[in-house]
Amino acid sequence: MKALVWMGKNKVQMVDTPKPKVIEDRDVILKVTGSTVCGSDLHLLHGSVIELQQGDILGHEFCGIVDDMGSAVTKFKKGDRVVASFQIACGKCYYCDKKWSSMCEKTNANTIENAMYGGRTAGMFGYSHFTGGFAGGQAEYVRVPIGDVNLLKLPDDVPDEKGLYLSDVISTSWNCVVDTGVKEGDVVAIWGAGPIGQMCIDFAFMNGAKRVIIIDNVQWRLDLCKEKSPRVETVNFGKLSGAKAVVSKLKEMCDGRGPDVGLECVAGEYPKTTLHAIELATGMETDTPEILNEMIESVHNFGRVGITGVYVGYTNHFNIGSLMERGIRLIGNGQAPVHLYWEDLLKKIQSGEIDPLRMVSHRVRVEDLDKVYYKFDKKEDHMQKVYVET
Ligand code: NAD
Ligand code: ZN
Ligand code: ZN
Repeated sequence: MKALVWMGKNKVQMVDTPKPKVIEDRDVILKVTGSTVCGSDLHLLHGSVIELQQGDILGHEFCGIVDDMGSAVTKFKKGDRVVASFQIACGKCYYCDKKWSSMCEKTNANTIENAMYGGRTAGMFGYSHFTGGFAGGQAEYVRVPIGDVNLLKLPDDVPDEKGLYLSDVISTSWNCVVDTGVKEGDVVAIWGAGPIGQMCIDFAFMNGAKRVIIIDNVQWRLDLCKEKSPRVETVNFGKLSGAKAVVSKLKEMCDGRGPDVGLECVAGEYPKTTLHAIELATGMETDTPEILNEMIESVHNFGRVGITGVYVGYTNHFNIGSLMERGIRLIGNGQAPVHLYWEDLLKKIQSGEIDPLRMVSHRVRVEDLDKVYYKFDKKEDHMQKVYVET
């Protein structure tokens, strides 16, 4: 079968590789019909968050048709259309019992404890040995462990093009908004107008936000946000100048106090901001995820900041003073516990309340996935969420 593999920093390649087989009796083999590329795949492409091993099959958002299964699978039959969760959960452990599937204690035996995450989290497709060694779904076939738990049946009136994104981006954006506690009347600022940030606009309004402000420096993405959600306000930080320019702009837009809530939908490579507070003060380069300082300083006193963008390890020069004195609630949203939300979110897609297609820019064939990675990385041709047909 064809599959997309990691070949080293900034290099991916389509290769021919053996089709996966049922190994355990709860496995499902899926014939992939649709997949996509996520902002997280770019961190993997760059080798910036973790480094994969050569030959690892990428992809953690996919849907397909049940092709084969082990003897213990009870919920599905051959030919069923399903979407997979990007988290692999056992369905039975302490965390799975609470539907916090991204924290499953059983599926990631290989996690390096206290290194990346400060503890154990669930297995994940397409992230290699760091998250259990499960091959991804940017391929013609994929093995889904514990299929009864990690697959959701797609009804006839939800096409693959809409159901696919329950895997990750829809569930992740929903988690970002509700886990950070967006409520009636809030003013919500979203950092990052990628697919995650774009879905957060809709979800913030759906959860009662009075105003939503989105911040990025890619003008066409901000224009797209405005086109799809005319109520959203946009800030192009590339057009601002001076230290703490975003902080000042947001204060100015929100009665001098700032928004109630900040949602971090960027991350990956400790993105530089206009803040540069420490650099300016000390003349030294720092390892600060400046965007977090920018968010903490922007929101109003007792405001909330949720982090969905992926960070690993430790950091320094973090504005704990502002956090403490001003009562800022900093919330790590975690890898989204897809199983907690996906059945409800599927109903919202069915009813038309959620439109996943708002973020989809291209439809491509699986054979072209390598080219898609490079284009997506450079945001060429206004590429963002792609639907990869297999
Ligand atoms: P993306 O790369 O398409 O979008 C990120 C956007 O952030 C880009 O438009 C970029 O221009 C913008 N940006 C860069 N620096 C900025 C700054 N200083 N201020 C404001 N905006 C800035 O990514 P995506 O697919 O939308 O994903 C967003 C993040 O969410 C990524 O870090 C991804 O890894 C993460 N993610 C988390 C989960 C989870 O479960 N927690 C799941 C999926 C993705
Ligand atoms: Zn993802
Ligand atoms: Zn579990």
